[in-house]
Amino acid sequence: MKKFLVLLILLAGVFFGLKKWSPQTLARVQFWKTKTAEAPPSPPALPPAEPAPLPTSENKTASTPKPAATSVDKTAQVVVLMYHRVEPTTNTTGALNIPPDQFEQQMQTIKDRGLAVISMQDFLAWRRGEKSIPPRSVLITIDDGYVSSFDTARPILKKFGYPWTCFVYTKFIGMGGKSISWEQLGQLRDEGVEIGCHSISHINLRDPRPKTGESSEQWLRDEIINSKQIIEQRLGIKCSTFAYPEGRYNSHVLELVKEAGYAAAFTAYGQRLTHSAPFDRIGRYAWNTRRPQDMAQALAFNGPVEAGNEQPDLSEPAAATSITQPLEGETITDDRPILKANLATLGNLDPASVGLRLSGIGIIPCKFDPATSIIEARPGQPLTPGEYTVTVSAKAAGKRVETQWRFKFEPAAKPR
Ligand SMILES: [Zn+2]
Repeated sequence: MKKFLVLLILLAGVFFGLKKWSPQTLARVQFWKTKTAEAPPSPPALPPAEPAPLPTSENKTASTPKPAATSVDKTAQVVVLMYHRVEPTTNTTGALNIPPDQFEQQMQTIKDRGLAVISMQDFLAWRRGEKSIPPRSVLITIDDGYVSSFDTARPILKKFGYPWTCFVYTKFIGMGGKSISWEQLGQLRDEGVEIGCHSISHINLRDPRPKTGESSEQWLRDEIINSKQIIEQRLGIKCSTFAYPEGRYNSHVLELVKEAGYAAAFTAYGQRLTHSAPFDRIGRYAWNTRRPQDMAQALAFNGPVEAGNEQPDLSEPAAATSITQPLEGETITDDRPILKANLATLGNLDPASVGLRLSGIGIIPCKFDPATSIIEARPGQPLTPGEYTVTVSAKAAGKRVETQWRFKFEPAAKPR
């Protein structure tokens, strides 16, 4: 009880004396509050555990300059990197996997080029106009909650002192096999890693899959809002960030992301970000074995710059020419996925000649829009688990052209 009174007095002190305190003292108090909020069990009468900013920002980003409280550098630019698995290559690792030595090499490149890896909390503070970040900053994100982010990527990132963000979808957590556990996520949290939300089931949010008796709306709210609450409750944190499964969204998804209270939501569209990037469409560069040039562009910091308030076309969020759906090498849980690609790089196609084939299935009727060069198709029947190759062929200037990408379908495992 005594302890609790002291706590209350201190909190009151913080509240009333806030403006007079030096930033250093303030930082200490905030850090202390952080620890308090996380320490279970909290005294019952305390104000609701203010989900504290993770220790990430204050402690980890040594390279971040001290904020000049009045002028925040809004000319800085950020690239966001997206990884999935970090495993030695075997025949079961797909194109989204990066072997540890290569991952380490990329981390070294960041260092060699003088780019500053910043924490998610610093990024968000910069977005709010509260803190400057170095002119060329990098955010590192690892998606899906593979255990390799914990046992392989983590030690490498630690070695470099890089803060990072782990985006997890709740259904996969603690499933055994390659999945991360809640305990491991708790450890990441304690080490200052930002934990972000990547939905419940990792299904494309543009294509709701309600359970029997559930509306699409309820399903969507679960995937976007409930998932956040699950993470917050299980880990005792504030979950401020969302990553769209497969990088996909539509206007309603954006509304729900806003309603959920996320401070930033991430796509899979690589670009250099400016201060004015819309909070709900923060583009990321994906590591993909078959498109190493994307990551190379990110690390060279010379890719296209995000267009500020100009909103990308909602009907094709991942409008990057390189981006396919599902992503190359991606493992999906949706048994009737929409197959999509931008064929602009194939040349000026004869629309009547465009066809799409899926291995094991055959030809699938497709739509091709010559204006956007987007081809879209969906299998007529549910896929069986396994690996698939999509082949798109067409004629350009009388010549046969073809492109291929691969993905894997693996139904979501049932909770044990
Ligand atoms: Zn994912």
